[in-house]
Amino acid sequence: MLFILPRLCRQHLRSYVQSHIRQLTTGQPNVCIVGAGPAGFYTAQQILKGNPNAVVDIYEKLPVPFGLVRYGVAPDHPEVKNVINTFTQTASKDRCTFIGNVTIGKDISIADLQKAYSAVVLSYGADNDRLLGVPGENLKNVISARSFVGWYNGLPQDIDLQVNLDVEKAVIIGHGNVALDVARILLMPIDLLKKTDISQYSLDALSKSRIKEVTVIGRRGPLQVAFTIKELREMIRLPDCKPVLSQADFLGVDKLIQDLPRPRRRLTELMYKTCMEPTEKDLKLWETAQKSWSLSFCMSPLEIFGDKDVTGLKLGINKLQGEDLVKQSAILTDQTIDMSCGLVLRSIGYKSILIDPDIPFDTKSGTIPNKESRVEGKPGMYCTGWVSTGPVGVILTTMNQAFETGKTVVKDINDGILDLTKPGKRDILNILNSKGVQTVSFKDWENIDQFEVKQGEDIGKPREKMVDISQMVSVAKKS
Ligand code: FAD
Repeated sequence: MLFILPRLCRQHLRSYVQSHIRQLTTGQPNVCIVGAGPAGFYTAQQILKGNPNAVVDIYEKLPVPFGLVRYGVAPDHPEVKNVINTFTQTASKDRCTFIGNVTIGKDISIADLQKAYSAVVLSYGADNDRLLGVPGENLKNVISARSFVGWYNGLPQDIDLQVNLDVEKAVIIGHGNVALDVARILLMPIDLLKKTDISQYSLDALSKSRIKEVTVIGRRGPLQVAFTIKELREMIRLPDCKPVLSQADFLGVDKLIQDLPRPRRRLTELMYKTCMEPTEKDLKLWETAQKSWSLSFCMSPLEIFGDKDVTGLKLGINKLQGEDLVKQSAILTDQTIDMSCGLVLRSIGYKSILIDPDIPFDTKSGTIPNKESRVEGKPGMYCTGWVSTGPVGVILTTMNQAFETGKTVVKDINDGILDLTKPGKRDILNILNSKGVQTVSFKDWENIDQFEVKQGEDIGKPREKMVDISQMVSVAKKS
């Protein structure tokens, strides 16, 4: 303490001392976090760092932590999953407790959490999906990309997904990174996938897949795509697979590239060059490719055809409108085209749900209304991550936002806004115990982790995930 005193300005020093005196006389800040994804862990990290007395409990509905890092990030992107190391450090701190296998809104209510904790931070993500709202959406083999991602990543709720890969052509609706992840997994040589932590049952199904052609459809043009350059580059370099881009879509785009903001410029340049000026090396690579993928622009699905199984789509052709090229919107014209396919994957965004009636919720945007993470009209309640912003951005975006949320909670603790006399987890654990809910600690999760890594080693993979919740809990409890 003494050696940091000279570095603190007087104002900070005063508020630091005041808040400590207040906390010593009134009690300890007990904070709970709902959802153990990146937003939850990064918020916890910031609160623990920002207040030396704060205790943080992270509740998670699954027996395993890490949210979409485990169940969303593609299996061939192991480097992205390195953030797990930072989350593990946070969870290993004395003042942090992971309480898995507890569904807030079902096992424990938000009112219970508010009674027990000085602050409740909601970071439960977006685990539902948006619908297209067109006829035929319920046909067999019309699937949400969210379920498909859950299926290949071993998410317990999606392991029984009925996906028929005994077809030649798939259409993916949406021009985001999830759409490209799904396209890549459908087209990737099975020998590459075998080395990842993809779930074995999906690997088996993909190894029998007949899919040779994937079309990725977006309602706007090449300047408005939402995917990023890394994912596009991976598609372009996919072994045994050729990109098919229409030159008509890129006419005149070269003249616009210079005026685009930098990341968009590089992305558009790559698409343009792939279509208009492919290198000799590229052409040679694609010459013998057995599979292909294409990008279709300015199209919106109007109807999905089929008897029982999907056989194709009717697409409306859009024109673009608006001054700002990057933000132009799509306006439907009266022109349409039909496209045949045997699988449709809807990749138009994830959506949050309301998990407890005590949470204010905007059903239209699928988010919790908030100002700087403070939930409107609910003192002591905060939200962060995808449940607060909608399903946008990458882990880095979520991290930056969660750090701000953590700082806001710490500020409110220091400003004396929060009630520091709350008892913390004791009462909640009693309720869970009385209901017979078997909680999973971080140490328990480490048992699952070791088991999965061992299962993977036996078949030459980095990990084979467990997909049965009761099996997870029983392995967790074996010391
Ligand atoms: P989540 O990660 O969804 O975490 C929410 C957690 O809350 C989950 O663990 C969930 O089980 C839990 N929960 C839900 N309901 C309850 C409840 N009632 N009670 C208790 N717990 C609950 N970003 C990158 O940087 N690189 C990538 O390669 C990348 N790939 C992606 C691939 C896909 C398919 C998707 C969808 C996203 C990807 N992202 C990627 C984005 C990244 O995953 C998100 O930015 C981030 O996960 C959002 O964090 P979150 O904590 O808000 O939500």
